Amino acid sequence: MLIDGKKIAAELRRETKLEISQLKNKYKKVPGLTVILVGDLPASQIYVRNKEKSAIEVGLKSEIIKYPKSVTEEEILNKVEELNKDNTVSGILVQLPLPEHINKKKVIETISPDKDVDGFHPMNVGNLSSGFKSSIPCTPLGCYHLIKKVEPNLDGKKAIIIGRSNLNGKPMAQLLLKENCTVTITHSKTKNLKKECMEGDIIVAAVGMPKLVKGDWIKKDSIVIDVGINKTQNGIVGDVDFEEVSKIARAITPVPGGVGPMTIACLLQNTVDCFKRSFEKTQ
Ligand code: NAP
Repeated sequence: MLIDGKKIAAELRRETKLEISQLKNKYKKVPGLTVILVGDLPASQIYVRNKEKSAIEVGLKSEIIKYPKSVTEEEILNKVEELNKDNTVSGILVQLPLPEHINKKKVIETISPDKDVDGFHPMNVGNLSSGFKSSIPCTPLGCYHLIKKVEPNLDGKKAIIIGRSNLNGKPMAQLLLKENCTVTITHSKTKNLKKECMEGDIIVAAVGMPKLVKGDWIKKDSIVIDVGINKTQNGIVGDVDFEEVSKIARAITPVPGGVGPMTIACLLQNTVDCFKRSFEKTQ
C-alpha cells in the first residue's frame, strides 16, 4: 500500500482551514505565522515560499521577514523579541540553516515557547518527552499522522528509527513511545543496522543517504516511512530503496509525495494550536 502523503496532507489542511474559519468567528481574529528568512539559499527560499502559499490558502495571516546574510545576531534576536510581544503573531519560525555568525541555539531559545511552531525550544522538547502539551516538530508529527492512518493502534509495535537528529529522529521516538511502541533509535555508530531494521514493525528513515534501506532489511507487513530527501542524478530519492521495499512492506511513503507535504500541513496546524493555547492562557 502506498501512503499518499499529498492526499492526507490535503485532508489535514482542509480541517485546519475549517478550524481557522471557526476561530475567526469566535475570536474575530485569525492566527498569524511569521517566518524569518536570512540570506538567499535557494532551498530555504523555496520552502518559505511554499509555507507562505499554504498558510494563505488555509486563511492564516502570513508574513515573511527577510534579512540579508550580513544581518547581525543582535538584529535577529531583537526582531524575535518584538514578535514575541506582538499579539497578532501566533507562531514564529526562523528558517534554518542560519549563517555561521548567528548562534542557532540562541535564536531558538529566544523564541517564546508559546510561539515556537517548530517545536525546537528546549521547553517544548522537554514537554514532549515528559508527555505534556507542547509544540511538536512538524516533520516527525507528519510521520506520526501517516503511521496512525495505516495502523491506529500501535501498542507493543517495534519501531526502528534511523537517525537521531533533534529535528527528526529524537522527537519521532518520543511520539512513538507515547503510543506504546518499543522504540530503537539507530545512528551512524549503530553496529548492525540491517539486523535492527529486520525487527521493525515500523521503520522511520531520517538519514540523508539515498536508498540506504534495502528490501531484505525489512519485515513483511512493516510500515516504512521515508523522511529522506536526497538529490541524485536521477532526481530526488529517499533514504529507502522504494523499488525493493515497496514489494515487501505493508505500507510505504513515496519520495516525493510522502512525508514532505505533511511537514507544511503540520506547521499550519501547529500555528493554529499556538493561537488556541494563547487564548486558553488568558482565560
Ligand atoms: P541529520 O541531522 O544530518 O541527521 C542524520 C542522522 O542520520 C544522524 O543521526 C546520523 O547519525 C544518522 N546517520 C548517518 N549515517 C548513517 C548510517 N549510515 N546509518 C545510520 N544512521 C546514519 O539529518 P536530518 O535533519 O534529520 O534529515 C534527515 C533527512 O531527512 C535528510 O535527507 C533531510 O533532507 C530530510 N528531511 C526531510 C524533511 C521533510 O519534510 N520530508 C524534513 C527535514 C529533513 P549520527 O548522529 O551518528 O551522525
